[in-house]
Amino acid sequence: MIDCIFCKITNGEIPNYTVYEDEKVLAFLDIHPHAKGHTVVIPKVHAENYFDLNEDLLGHLSIGIKRTMEKIDKVLSPDGYNVGWNQGLVAGQVVPHLHIHIMPRYEGDGGGSMHSIINSAGEKTVEELGKLFAASSL
Ligand code: 5GP
Ligand code: ZN
Repeated sequence: MIDCIFCKITNGEIPNYTVYEDEKVLAFLDIHPHAKGHTVVIPKVHAENYFDLNEDLLGHLSIGIKRTMEKIDKVLSPDGYNVGWNQGLVAGQVVPHLHIHIMPRYEGDGGGSMHSIINSAGEKTVEELGKLFAASSL
């Protein structure tokens, strides 16, 4: 049994404020919200990150994200959203169970965009990077 706080939430050991739930996905209010209605969406099975979840469940997760956003839309009527996840310690992942943050956005809330997370593109030009990708198969 993995000692994981989000597994404890899915199995009911730790309570949560559920926003959306189906048999494979759970969405609940973040305990330290950065926006009104800040919600995290998780697969019910333990997977540390996006690479570790099988593609069938990734498909379910994607639909769960959409339905969660529809529910937030209905209850809070935000003006927009930022949606994403922190993958890896360097990117700020603290809980090692994949979770997608949904940050509802409101006119005048003072927040930024995805572009405000990082602005350090490195030495290589976009053209050089493009050649690296073109030379590599998946
Ligand atoms: P991370 O930095 O790993 O991407 O985000 C983890 C998120 O989980 C944080 O925003 C944090 O507030 C939230 N969180 C951590 N523990 C709990 C908990 O026990 N309950 C809830 N609802 N959220 C939690
Ligand atoms: Zn877990």
